[in-house]
Amino acid sequence: MAEYRITKIIKFCYGHRLLNYDGKSKNLHGHNAYVEIDVASKSLDGRGMVASFGSLKEAIETWVQDNFDHQVILIDSDPIGHPLEDLGQMVNMLTVNPTSENLAKILFMVTQDMGFDVSEVRFWETPTSCGSYSGGN
Ligand SMILES: [Zn+2]
Repeated sequence: MAEYRITKIIKFCYGHRLLNYDGKSKNLHGHNAYVEIDVASKSLDGRGMVASFGSLKEAIETWVQDNFDHQVILIDSDPIGHPLEDLGQMVNMLTVNPTSENLAKILFMVTQDMGFDVSEVRFWETPTSCGSYSGGN
């Protein structure tokens, strides 16, 4: 079925590590995230838009600045979380491992909760590695 779609790019920096993972990513390290957020609609509003880029940017960037940017994102069972917090580090503890797939789903849900008809979020952890989430719960 035909539909219109807009894509907003959000960029931010974060640190993380993966638990229960036997590879380099079990070590604390950082990424420059490049996130593509797609909002879709079968019809345009009176302005000829799916949604305004400005409203999408303002809503999502504010959330990202408050919750992800320059923070260490960890699963809440990671024993390094509380010591880092005690040392004054900004830590965001999730109920899931901070993979690009899970971070894409979180940003999908946040965007949806803000009232946008988000269709897909693609979370580029590196220029060659992307996890995405689309539709449903
Ligand atoms: Zn990583």
